[in-house]
Amino acid sequence: MQTDWTKVVCVQCKTEMVITLIGTPVVELDAYGEPYNLCYGDVATCPLCMAQVIARWGSPMHSHEEKFAAHLEAALKDKNLVTFK
Ligand SMILES: [Zn+2]
Repeated sequence: MQTDWTKVVCVQCKTEMVITLIGTPVVELDAYGEPYNLCYGDVATCPLCMAQVIARWGSPMHSHEEKFAAHLEAALKDKNLVTFK
């Protein structure tokens, strides 16, 4: 079966969302509010209701990886950074 994970659809508006920002850093926080996971994703926006989601994830890194600290430092300076728990 062929799959397509790049297509993002707004359930409310029943229309395809548009990729409006590529390579947004996304930091996931643990229960203590500390960063433990860093990924890059694309922001998809619904052209009708303007709802936004992060789609098309890539380059995942966990806090135990050596490169994590350097990438996190750069991500924290990015104005488009998204954090979530
Ligand atoms: Zn919508």
